[in-house]
Amino acid sequence: MAYLSCINPIAYVCYRVMPESIDQMQRRIEQIKEALMKIGDMRPGSLSEQYNVCGKSGCRCKDPKKPKRHGPYYQLSYTRSGKSKTEFVKKHMVAEVREQIQNYAKFRKLTEDWVEFSVKIAQARKTET
Ligand SMILES: [Zn+2]
Repeated sequence: MAYLSCINPIAYVCYRVMPESIDQMQRRIEQIKEALMKIGDMRPGSLSEQYNVCGKSGCRCKDPKKPKRHGPYYQLSYTRSGKSKTEFVKKHMVAEVREQIQNYAKFRKLTEDWVEFSVKIAQARKTET
C-alpha cells in the first residue's frame, strides 16, 4: 500500500498519489501518444452564428412586423499569444472548422492527461524509494 508511507498530512493528497500503478500509467501515456498521432487538422476557438441588419431601406431585415435578419454568418473567435482574434468563416467551411475545433479540444485533453500522468508517475516514484 503505497499511500500508507505518505507523510503528507492532507489525506486526500495521499490517496491521489497512486490511483494506478506506474506501469498502468505509462501504458496510458503510450495510448495517449498513439491517439495524438491520429489527430487531424485542428484550430483553437469557438464558432458563433450571427444575424445582421443591413443599410438598405425597406429591406426584409427591417420589416416592422416580422423582421428577418440576414444570416447566419459564422465567426471564429480565438486567442493566440495573448491576443483575441475573430475571423469570418464561409458557410461551406463551417463543418470543417467545427471538426478542427473538436480536434483541438481532443488534443488539449490528451496532452492534459499526459501531463497529469507524468506528474503522478513522478510522485509515485518518489514514494517508492
Ligand atoms: Zn437587409
